[in-house]
Amino acid sequence: MSEPLTILGTGMAGLGLARQLRARDPERAITLITADSGDDYSKPLLSTGFAKGLPPERLAQRSALEVADQLEAVVRTHTRVTAIDVEANTLWLDREALPYGELVIATGAVPQPPMAIAESVSGRVFTINDLDDYRVFHHALSRLGRPGRVAIVGAGLVGCEFANDLADGGHRVCLIAPETTPLARLLPEPLGKALGDAMRDSGIELRMGRTLATLEEGGANVSMTLSDGDTLEADLVLVATGLKPRIQLAAEAGLEVSDAGIHTDRYLRTSAPGVHALGDVACVDGINAMYVQPLQACAKALAATLSGTPTRVSYGPWPVLVKTPVCPVVSLPPRQAPARWHIEGESPDLTALAEDEDGRLIGFALTGACVRRKVELARAAPALLV
Ligand code: FAD
Repeated sequence: MSEPLTILGTGMAGLGLARQLRARDPERAITLITADSGDDYSKPLLSTGFAKGLPPERLAQRSALEVADQLEAVVRTHTRVTAIDVEANTLWLDREALPYGELVIATGAVPQPPMAIAESVSGRVFTINDLDDYRVFHHALSRLGRPGRVAIVGAGLVGCEFANDLADGGHRVCLIAPETTPLARLLPEPLGKALGDAMRDSGIELRMGRTLATLEEGGANVSMTLSDGDTLEADLVLVATGLKPRIQLAAEAGLEVSDAGIHTDRYLRTSAPGVHALGDVACVDGINAMYVQPLQACAKALAATLSGTPTRVSYGPWPVLVKTPVCPVVSLPPRQAPARWHIEGESPDLTALAEDEDGRLIGFALTGACVRRKVELARAAPALLV
């Protein structure tokens, strides 16, 4: 009989694994523990909800109770694990000790605000990294009783998607970021510019090339000063300045970690026996992709491994699809700096091919109508993890 399994985290990684495992093994005892509500939801849909006018309850596909029922598993919600003792195979929930047979860590990633948020504005400054966060932000926006003025700090995938979505939902959006163009980590400058132009045309205000210097209460507003001395007022601020793997528990337990996540091999094994990791928290053979497709591949491989068929995970050449309907974007960023970018087309319909010294395709980015080339180019690009 296989060891009881405890999965820490009920995001797409933790729940995805539980589902895959249950399909293979109807008998195994599975316990899932989560600090949040444990609702089953698709995180990528969080940044599409305002345009569709979706209240938070419409984003939850199943409650934790329904998940527990469906998976015949124990699901402990609003329960924070405070320590892992890998010598004694025990989780600590404050003073409660919870022994485990095998453990999977799927604790995701945590937002990284650029500065400490003062108490006086904390009710109007938000991050959205799970459904509970979405509920809180949605409530604050609804309470205004009118379209909101929302400042979004950070123009990566999350910042750009929310900017587009909130603007489509009728809100006035201002996007602030230090880079000169949006999505700078995913798009070479001409394509970033195409996206920025499309955002401006749709009414989003862009204040690029500037960082946030101060954030304070200004009557009913939040007042901001930018690094160039420019000022700005908003009803609400959404901070989207990046995510960092949530490694603290693993680090304190003595597992091998780095800023890129908990280190695992291709079997998702961490440095501690009987402990695996996957999802945004895991750095698999040197790669932490932080996207859905890789974590689904990990869930599938790990379910096979945990049910007796050791399976190495591999990733294909999977591009990221950014949900900015004002100017659709697809990107497969090259893993090393390209020798050159070869850019074709006319804005906003652009193709950018990243080539190495020998002219081989090592990544690509597409905007506008050119996103239809994603399948053809992905076929020619190298896999992320062979
Ligand atoms: P999470 O979903 O963060 O889950 C972590 C779990 O760990 C939670 O249940 C949490 O409560 C629990 N936890 C953490 N610490 C503790 C603790 N101490 N005790 C108990 N429980 C704990 N990817 C794409 O591929 N395509 C997209 O279009 C896309 N869009 C996105 C849009 C947004 C707005 C965001 C934020 C991300 C998007 N992503 C997208 C990324 C993708 O959603 C994530 O890679 C994925 O959801 C991560 O899942 P996870 O299970 O690893 O982490």
